[in-house]
Amino acid sequence: MKNGKPSFYLIYALFLWLVFTMPSCNKKEGSFSIEDLNEQSLLSLVWYQNAAEVRALYHQAFNLARLRLDEYLWEREIEEKYAVVIDIDETVLDNTPVHAWRFKQGVTHPDGWDEWCRAAEAEALPGVLDFLKYADSRGCEIFYVSNRDVTLKEATLKNLKDLNFPDADEAHVLLRKETGDKEPRRQLVRKDHNIVLLIGDNLGDFASLFMDKKTDARNAAVEEHREKFGKRFIILPNPKYGDWEGTLYGLQRELTPADKNKLRRASLKPWENSQKK
Ligand SMILES: [Mg+2]
Repeated sequence: MKNGKPSFYLIYALFLWLVFTMPSCNKKEGSFSIEDLNEQSLLSLVWYQNAAEVRALYHQAFNLARLRLDEYLWEREIEEKYAVVIDIDETVLDNTPVHAWRFKQGVTHPDGWDEWCRAAEAEALPGVLDFLKYADSRGCEIFYVSNRDVTLKEATLKNLKDLNFPDADEAHVLLRKETGDKEPRRQLVRKDHNIVLLIGDNLGDFASLFMDKKTDARNAAVEEHREKFGKRFIILPNPKYGDWEGTLYGLQRELTPADKNKLRRASLKPWENSQKK
């Protein structure tokens, strides 16, 4: 600095600082990327793929399902037809390898989904195969009601058959055609069967009344029907995706990663600590 005036070099350095720091500022404000969103979901994926607690939760759910099945069938007419209605994704089959692939690739749903399903390489989740084999041995038919697109049926059947799941056939695997609402497919099963149990990782796997609701209304509906959980409804953990996330976004499908980030943050319910400013 000469005579109290900033030198050319100082001004130039300031100019360079502005040029190289502005993009990162913008990133925080408006250019939130898919990779940034994926980073937010990383821990839920790490938890699901690694925590022994997840395995324990699945075993807990299917141990309870077995108990409820025995309870339900006790002293019932043997001539009647019984069914277990079960979801597929994150209930029977573990799709987290494609989620981990998306994380590495910096992409998001639906990238890789069809290819993953067509590879038919998903593994069974803990406890589910033994439970469904047991239900089958007790004379229950198993209906797999899934919102996988119907075009993925052949591959889904192959995946289930390769893993030796009972009733893995055309008539028992009911995939999505026109609607994601599973109620018409449940009604189809109810025509000829008593549904003993409904099993899934999403509230829509149990009843339509949970669907198309905002977060508070979904929570209120669960409270209203709380006695059914662990009884007729067996629910499994899925922190990675589901209707719970869609409702955070007001069921809007075309949001940018930045919009989603804002809505995720807005959903937090922080402690109002009066001791700190
Ligand atoms: Mg599912």
